[in-house]
Amino acid sequence: MRTLTILGSTGSIGRNALEVVRAHRDRIRVKGLAAASNAALLAEQAREFGAESVYLKSGASDYLQAGGPGKVFSSAEGLDSFVEACDADILLAAASGTESLGPVVAAIRRGRRVAVANKEVLVAAGGLIVDELERHPSAELIPVDSEHSAIFQCLEGHDLDGVERILLTSSGGPLKDVPPELFGGLTKDQVLNHPRWKMGPKITVDSATLMNKGLEVIEAAVLFGLPVERVDVLVHPEAVVHSMVEMRDGSVLAQLGVTDMRLPIQYALSHPDRWTVPPVLRYDFRSGPALRFEAPDTRKFPCLQLAYAAARRSGSAPCVLSAADEVAVGAYLQDRIAFTDIPRVIERVLSSHRHEERPGLQDILRIHGWASEETRRLCEAH
Ligand code: NDP
Ligand code: MG
Repeated sequence: MRTLTILGSTGSIGRNALEVVRAHRDRIRVKGLAAASNAALLAEQAREFGAESVYLKSGASDYLQAGGPGKVFSSAEGLDSFVEACDADILLAAASGTESLGPVVAAIRRGRRVAVANKEVLVAAGGLIVDELERHPSAELIPVDSEHSAIFQCLEGHDLDGVERILLTSSGGPLKDVPPELFGGLTKDQVLNHPRWKMGPKITVDSATLMNKGLEVIEAAVLFGLPVERVDVLVHPEAVVHSMVEMRDGSVLAQLGVTDMRLPIQYALSHPDRWTVPPVLRYDFRSGPALRFEAPDTRKFPCLQLAYAAARRSGSAPCVLSAADEVAVGAYLQDRIAFTDIPRVIERVLSSHRHEERPGLQDILRIHGWASEETRRLCEAH
């Protein structure tokens, strides 16, 4: 029996993770659940899964009023103390934003498994996380993002020396076939209408700008220890191949399956075991579509280029990229800037930041704070 703490249990990944737990109660048990403010759903989840502790950034009194059980932590105690008190075998980092960075680092230091969905954390603090993993070899970092889960599975049993490059697939997002001259007049419904995946609003906007793929390029370089030049993006609209690895000898290994986040979430929990899934989660090749692959249009989607450039600079640049994107997307979702302003604002913040080569944990938090504030200022000036 493995125990689990979920950061972001009320979100899209968190709810899917709880479905996995529901289907495998004999193998995995919830110890702690954390959310930002959705007290009603958190109370319902904590009751159903028997959570011993919960964290709510705000709204602890609503949680108690909703009859939520267990020990309640709030921002006064902090997310770190909550995670430490739970001390589960697996920490699923699936809260949006970068507030999970401290708990992720702490779980690595305690030699735990971190199932990481939260790509912002890997992008902002990749170098630091890799250093911590080297220092704590009993800890494990297992990706939940579908592409990285695919690459992780393709690489199992292979030496990195044999790898030529990673082929990160992208559905192309909701705007793949929309001409760029129409981007200025897009409604939010069009931007939020992802053709393949149902996800939270921030990552869905990132899928429309292709910043999501850019963050994933950086995420892949961090997780698998390859330079970004050897991480290529391939547009694959059917989203059946979740990513591939090309080996030096020309063999290409791929991982395929239905587009359902329960599969990569489950593997991050079950690894190295495989748990049986119901027929709806099995891919049927006979009724599936023909599979297409094409190069991404980086002129139409400047965010992808911005991410490659930040990755090449490394150091503090990916952290600035991620923080600027988080705030710019938030401003877009609140109708404060236009869709086409997102890459412009990020580019300006990146070019005005003073580069740091090897930021530590406190530096990352400071740089993230600066970039967020600078982006907010630019968005307000719009
Ligand atoms: P959602 O917006 O659906 O959910 C975010 C969750 O995080 C909610 O539970 C929210 O609580 C919680 N949360 C936000 N801030 C805090 C905080 N400070 N402390 C504790 N909990 C917090 O996002 P997604 O589930 O879509 O994405 C989560 C992460 O996973 C992101 O980093 C995303 O990039 C990544 N990811 C998501 C994928 C997907 O399919 N959705 C795929 C791959 C990666 P509340 O509900 O109370 O606001
Ligand atoms: Mg992904």
